Amino acid sequence: MNLVCVLGDQLDPNSSAFDGFDPAHDIVWMAEVHSEAVAVWSHKARIALFLAAMRHFRDLLRERGWKVDYTELKRSTLATELAKAIKRHKPDQVILVEPGEYRVREELLAVSDRIEVRIDRHFLSTVQDFREHAEGRKQLRMEYFYREMRRRYGYLMEDSKPVGGDWNYDEENRGAFPKSGPGLLPAPLHFEPDAVTREVLDLVAREFKDHPGSLEHFDWPVTPEQAKAALDDFIRNRLPYFGLYQDAMWTDEPWLYHSRISSAMNLKLLDPRDVCAAAEHAYKKGKAPLAAVEGFIRQVLGWREYVRGIYWLHMPNYLEKNALDAQQPLPKFYWTGETDMECLRQSIGQTLQYGYAHHIQRLMVTGLFALLLGVNPKQVHEWYLAVYVDAIEWVELPNTLGMSQFGDGGIMASKPYAATGKYIDRMSNYCKHCAYKPDSCAFTTLYWDFLMRNEKKLARVGRMDMQLRNLVRITDERKNEIRKEAKAVKERLKEKFA
Ligand code: FAD
Ligand code: SF4
Repeated sequence: MNLVCVLGDQLDPNSSAFDGFDPAHDIVWMAEVHSEAVAVWSHKARIALFLAAMRHFRDLLRERGWKVDYTELKRSTLATELAKAIKRHKPDQVILVEPGEYRVREELLAVSDRIEVRIDRHFLSTVQDFREHAEGRKQLRMEYFYREMRRRYGYLMEDSKPVGGDWNYDEENRGAFPKSGPGLLPAPLHFEPDAVTREVLDLVAREFKDHPGSLEHFDWPVTPEQAKAALDDFIRNRLPYFGLYQDAMWTDEPWLYHSRISSAMNLKLLDPRDVCAAAEHAYKKGKAPLAAVEGFIRQVLGWREYVRGIYWLHMPNYLEKNALDAQQPLPKFYWTGETDMECLRQSIGQTLQYGYAHHIQRLMVTGLFALLLGVNPKQVHEWYLAVYVDAIEWVELPNTLGMSQFGDGGIMASKPYAATGKYIDRMSNYCKHCAYKPDSCAFTTLYWDFLMRNEKKLARVGRMDMQLRNLVRITDERKNEIRKEAKAVKERLKEKFA
């Protein structure tokens, strides 16, 4: 008899966990434990999404007639509950698919020496595939990995060549909206909570009332059917403009042309192969331009698989990396959204409302500000892991600590994503509604201070040459002024530090 463990982000009935599953003897084990909900100060919607999707998955398996040993929310840990289940059922073998977090993997493996760890087939590249890709390479760049994946899976390929002649249409993916704004946007499909989800929402509101974020707008897909409907809705209504406006931001418009499927994919309600195939099909049918489809497939087939490879290649040491020795605390307003800097107010505000911000808001607003301020990357990581409904460590950590904070010293990104307020002004209308001006706001002051503070370290990063050369043109007098202004910004934020 096998005890098959299913964790909250492993909700796939076709998972390798169920290979050879014998409903007459085997038992599925699932547990909702308090310790996972509070491992970081999780957004209420993030906790609710996990629990609601888990309960729907439990019901799906039970409808099949499978035995599910399910523990509803308990003040306990995964390891304790698994140990109890092993004692209860005395299985010959415990089966576990690779967890999405190093800590969880270690905790569970310590419970028993009879645990068989199976490959997570959800991903198109295994941990071992990525290790082989990494072997002998001095630098790991997403672009080369992505090309390998395109060749291997044949998405947007003609014979052995990329459709359209180019691998990458990134240049066409950086549009901003005109001054008049994005116009009428297609509203994404909304998933009204059913009785199971409503019960979870009440539970979370009660048990985690002091946690950040709101449950008011909870409408995330919690079943494979809903996840598929969300994908179809995106492909039909938003994919055609996804590429062009991928980096754009606009006041009070949280979704724009984004897909909103990351959480469904990360919980394994949606298979990335179906996602890429649906996008490719839209291109073949002439429903979406190549630049949009390639841009989208690059995110799913390229970035998503690449960051997972980086995570497992470098854990557990990755978590402690702090290449720029950044030691400032995270400003308190990250948890409240109460700031007079409009770009941060908007990005954090919608994060607390929905548990969602799109990539550029995460990278070039909240991430950028923390980078320039010099916030300790582990604190930044804990915030991102807590506040987004799609946050699971394998994907969140490399994006945060690596890509957005340059904490890994260049494993993920070839240079820090450092920019002044002018970047935000170019890509959004936030600055029009802000108390500050982009050429003199905190972002711009801290940008120059960041370059000066880290000049020696950054000089070793080839692609920073141009940005550093601009420092040479600044007089010592002006540099001192910038340092004073940056100090004043930090002082102003001090009372708002967590
Ligand atoms: P879209 O913009 O529609 O993109 C389509 C899909 O591509 C996403 O659903 C996602 O699965 C994938 N994707 C896009 N960019 C990335 C990327 N850089 N890494 C991995 N997958 C990507 N994504 C998460 O899923 N979980 C996280 O915890 C997470 N944390 C992030 C933290 C920071 C600091 C940054 C800069 C990015 C983070 N991302 C994370 C990546 C990205 O921001 C989200 O995947 C995306 O915003 C989710 O919204 P969407 O589904 O509408 O995506
Ligand atoms: Fe953000 Fe500066 Fe623009 Fe204000 S002026 S919205 S702080 S970039």
